[in-house]
Amino acid sequence: MPAKKIRASRFADRFRVTKPKSFRLSQIDPADTWRLRSRQQAGELLQRGIERLTELQEMLYAQDRWSVLLIFQAMDAAGKDSTIKHVMSGVNPQGCQVVSFKQPSAEELDHDFLWRSARRLPERGRIGIFNRSYYEEVLVVRVHPELLAKQKPPSKLVTKQIWEQRFTDINAHERYLTRNGTVIRKFFLHVSREEQKRRFLSRLDEPEKHWKFSLADVQERAHWEAYQHAYEEMIRNTTTKEAPWYVVPADNKWFTRLAVAAAVIDTLEELELAYPKVDSVKRRELATAREALADEAS
Ligand code: ATP
Ligand code: MG
Repeated sequence: MPAKKIRASRFADRFRVTKPKSFRLSQIDPADTWRLRSRQQAGELLQRGIERLTELQEMLYAQDRWSVLLIFQAMDAAGKDSTIKHVMSGVNPQGCQVVSFKQPSAEELDHDFLWRSARRLPERGRIGIFNRSYYEEVLVVRVHPELLAKQKPPSKLVTKQIWEQRFTDINAHERYLTRNGTVIRKFFLHVSREEQKRRFLSRLDEPEKHWKFSLADVQERAHWEAYQHAYEEMIRNTTTKEAPWYVVPADNKWFTRLAVAAAVIDTLEELELAYPKVDSVKRRELATAREALADEAS
């Protein structure tokens, strides 16, 4: 479907970070909606995108060679959960694994920082989604360095270079995964401080959303600038050709979903997926099966 392919990649390319060294978060407008005229138009495009994604995922699963890892990072209430829900709504649950990473457990803290996520990587043929990830290790842990102490590293190893070292280690880890057939795409959903406030207030106004509310989330707003800095540093240092970051405007959820869907479609299209070819042995097997079933009926 060349028409769809061109549309998806043109759209996705706009949000893909290609010049990490000069990347500035302040240059990305969280309220950007590109050339889309309306929410309705976006909804129609998303629907078509979801259909294409369904086809591509079936081939990914049938071919059983590549794994796809989609990483989502964002400030609270940026819409990670709802983006994942909408974009993956047409995907067969058997071929998709979503993992949410929360505060690490005592067992997880007793290991290196990539350990817990390495255990949850997608198998071949599957799409794995990390709702938060090892990138928290250069985000929340950087903003709250006291969290580092909980990891009990030998003190000699904790130096000023620790964040640089983590970037290097993450890049090496992702390069290793890429070389083994895992395709990695990373999404930072970029919401503005004002929009986050509006969403928190709406959670307070709606009883069905109270379960999502946490005072701690509001208190984290005091560290907004520190988080923006940490995100910018993360994007500048861990954007690679094989595992790029997409910085997706997140003040309009309908737009976020469409941009993420376009990037995922584009990624899968690039793999040139196809159903496995049926060879002559398999064809004979199918013919035998057909005969056996015909005999049974008579
Ligand atoms: P929701 O949208 O429902 O709030 P969430 O992803 O924010 O989803 P929470 O349970 O609210 O889920 O929060 C998870 C918390 O765990 C976040 O504050 C995040 O910073 C924290 N966290 C995740 N990974 C780590 C880590 N490696 N070290 C410390 N904290 C972490
Ligand atoms: Mg939260």
